[in-house]
Amino acid sequence: MNPFESQLAYPFGDTLPQPGTVHEVAPGLLWLRMGLPFALDHINLWLVRDEFVTDTGVRKGWTVIDCGITSDATRAAWESIFSDCLQGLPICRVIVTHCHPDHVGLAHWLCERWQAPLCMTTGEYGFARMMSAALPGVDGTAMLPHFQQHGLIDPAMLEKLRGRRSYYPTLVPAVPTAYRRMQDGQVLRIGGHGWRVITGFGHSPEHASLYCEELNVLVSGDMVLPRISTNVSVFAVEPEANPVKLYLDSLEKFRGLPEDTLVLPSHGKPFRGLHTRIAQLIDHHEARLAEVLAACSTPRSAADIVPIMFRRPLDAHQLTFALGEALAHLHKLWQDGALRRVTGSDGVIRFSVA
Ligand SMILES: [Zn+2]
Repeated sequence: MNPFESQLAYPFGDTLPQPGTVHEVAPGLLWLRMGLPFALDHINLWLVRDEFVTDTGVRKGWTVIDCGITSDATRAAWESIFSDCLQGLPICRVIVTHCHPDHVGLAHWLCERWQAPLCMTTGEYGFARMMSAALPGVDGTAMLPHFQQHGLIDPAMLEKLRGRRSYYPTLVPAVPTAYRRMQDGQVLRIGGHGWRVITGFGHSPEHASLYCEELNVLVSGDMVLPRISTNVSVFAVEPEANPVKLYLDSLEKFRGLPEDTLVLPSHGKPFRGLHTRIAQLIDHHEARLAEVLAACSTPRSAADIVPIMFRRPLDAHQLTFALGEALAHLHKLWQDGALRRVTGSDGVIRFSVA
C-alpha cells in the first residue's frame, strides 16, 4: 500500500469479488468486478435492487451502473451474474457514467438482451456514438498526426499506434441508438433512494457520478479513484483543451459531500476519506505542474515531457495516455500564461517558460 492509500479507510478490507460474483456494499447495492486486458486489469460495476413503475404496474428488477468492455470473458461473467445473483429478477435500466470502453462497452448487449433503457449524459452518449462509429477526428487515425505534432517521432512506437486504430470500436462495437439523458443536479430514483447526478469534466466529456445522501454513498466513476490518479488527456478532436483545469475545477464539486461518504470508484476498492483523497489529487497535479514548468526552462514538446513525468517503460496503450497527460499539464501552464507555445520549423509544437 502506498503512503497515500494508507490515509484512506477501506471498509471491506481486502475483499475483491471474483468475476461472476457480487459483494453487497450497502443494502441492495452490489459490487462486481470485470476483467480488463490492460495494465489496469479490472473495472468495478454496481447493481442496485430496484422498482420500476411501468404502464402495467410496478416491476421489480435491477439497475446496473457501468457495463465492462465487449469481450467473451465479460459476457460470460455477466451470464453467471444473471443466473446466480439477480434473484430471478431482470435488469431494467442501464446507467453508464461515461463513454470509455470499460464503462460503455457492453451497454448495447445489456440493453438489447433485457430491453432496458440506457441512461447517460448527452456529452458521453454523443462521444460514445462518434467513437464507436470511428468518425473522422475521433478515430485512431486522428491520433497519429496529433501525437507527431507533439513530438512523437519514434518509428517503432508510431507503428504500434498505427496498429491500435480500431481500439475503441473493437471494445465498443455498438452503442444503443436511443438513450435517456442524465443532467447535472438531476435526482434519479434508484432502489427507493434519491441519487443526485454530479457531472465532472477533464477525464471525459460530461462524466456522471451519482451521490445518495440517504445511504451516504458516492458512485464516483473515474472522477475520484483511491490509488491511481484519473487520466486527463488532450485529444486530436479538441487540440487546445485544458482538461487539468476542468478536472481540478470538477473536484471542487465533490468537496461539499461528507468526508465519511462511502466512495464506490470504478477502479480499486471502495473507500472512505473523500476529502483526503481530493487533497491528495490536487497535490499530485500541482506537483506535476511544477515539474513540467521546471522542465520547460528549455523548449519541450509533450513527447519530451513524457519520460520526466513517467519514469518507467510504457507500452503503446500507456503511451497514448502518458502523452495526452503530458500535453494536458503543458496546456494548463500555457493557458495560465506560465508557458508560451511555439511551432518549430520541424512542425513540432514546443512549450517554454514565458
Ligand atoms: Zn474513464
